[in-house]
Amino acid sequence: MLTAITGINWGDEGKGRMVDLLSEDYDIVVRYQGGNNAGHTVVNPKGKFILNLLPSGILRDDVVNVMGNGMVIDLEHLAGEIGRLREAGVEVTPEHLKISDRAVICMPYHVMLDCLEEERLGDAKFGSTRRGIAPVYGDKYMKKALRMGELLHPERMAQRLKGILEWKNLTIEKVYGGQAAALQKMLDWLKKYGEPLKSYICDTGLYLDEAAKAGKNIMFEAQLGALRDIDFGIYPYTSSSSTIAAYAPVGAGIPNRKLDKTIGIMKAYSTCVGEGPFTAEMFGDEAEALRKAGGEYGAATGRPRRVGGFDVVASRYGVRMQGADELALTKMDVLSYLERIPVCTAYRVDGELTQAFPFTDALDEAQPVIEYLEGWGCDISGCRSKEELPAQALAYIAYIEAAVGCKVRYVSVGPAREQYVVL
Ligand code: GDP
Repeated sequence: MLTAITGINWGDEGKGRMVDLLSEDYDIVVRYQGGNNAGHTVVNPKGKFILNLLPSGILRDDVVNVMGNGMVIDLEHLAGEIGRLREAGVEVTPEHLKISDRAVICMPYHVMLDCLEEERLGDAKFGSTRRGIAPVYGDKYMKKALRMGELLHPERMAQRLKGILEWKNLTIEKVYGGQAAALQKMLDWLKKYGEPLKSYICDTGLYLDEAAKAGKNIMFEAQLGALRDIDFGIYPYTSSSSTIAAYAPVGAGIPNRKLDKTIGIMKAYSTCVGEGPFTAEMFGDEAEALRKAGGEYGAATGRPRRVGGFDVVASRYGVRMQGADELALTKMDVLSYLERIPVCTAYRVDGELTQAFPFTDALDEAQPVIEYLEGWGCDISGCRSKEELPAQALAYIAYIEAAVGCKVRYVSVGPAREQYVVL
């Protein structure tokens, strides 16, 4: 069984929490794209963890975790993340963590360039997490990036890095007036943080292909959501990688394999971090109340998230782009305080009503059409079965299913592993 767990919205849907829950039935969890710009929060019997780079299956002893070739990896950050897990008593060994030799290394100068560019943009900034993600993916496609496998051949890596830095420092110094990245300093950094990872690096594509052949269950974990996909999201306010399920086998290293199932993780309301069009956005007290109820502050950066009602137009598009077979509706419990629940049912663009998710420029002008559904007015965080959910909550779910054209299989009613209902 090859299953992708992907985000339907702008990210922060609770994918980490669902991977932690559903990985029970899987042998392997693979992260197939992105870097440490995401934060997956997982609350389970071992404690509360924020995972930026490691697959969320790392918290299960019997699951092998793979960091795929589609990822970009900041070695220093990974060392810190592994260190924090070990301190909390979680075992991290080459037996249950494997890192693709083809994954790209996010270097300190990528982080520096990300910051320099955001500062240059001033008020027009993108709201980057400043973790070097766009610069490192840029270099990947310029074919001027280092990959994890090069750590196993330090002399050749030093030669390549020398050439790369001659080029990169032209930009740092002459475009931004920044301080050049020194070769020796970068080599020391690679040695310090790369050396301990050597035994984890391998041809993970081969490993996964053999595992698939042997009938193992493999889960693909995405970062961010459909609306942040580099091709299909709200470009340029997207991430720099492909967040959609169709990319999962490629970013994992087994493009020869097909997915059996895609589970879309969709939030019961909308949130968005950073800049860019966000049609369903609420403001003022209404927004603050929802932000507080949902604890909507970024896991990676602590930034307050922009919030809004459930967006039918964007979510239906997200379901389509992910090719979701079924959905997990998360954070339903957060809406319990509302007497009536706002839902964005259509957009008005240039005076016309539309149900289709528009191109970014039109999206900038889009106005939301808001309707209200009846709230349930009671705490549902203790519900564990469909029968226990109030009629209004079931009506809300049924409305959403019809609106986005996909069945909801799981309803998450709290952050802890056991706080969910299967419909
Ligand atoms: P991810 O990046 O998609 O994994 O999502 P994040 O971890 O950034 O954000 C989800 C946040 O919501 C985390 O703090 C989770 O612990 C929390 N969470 C997940 N599911 C639920 C839920 O059903 N109810 C509540 N109240 N919190 C949830």
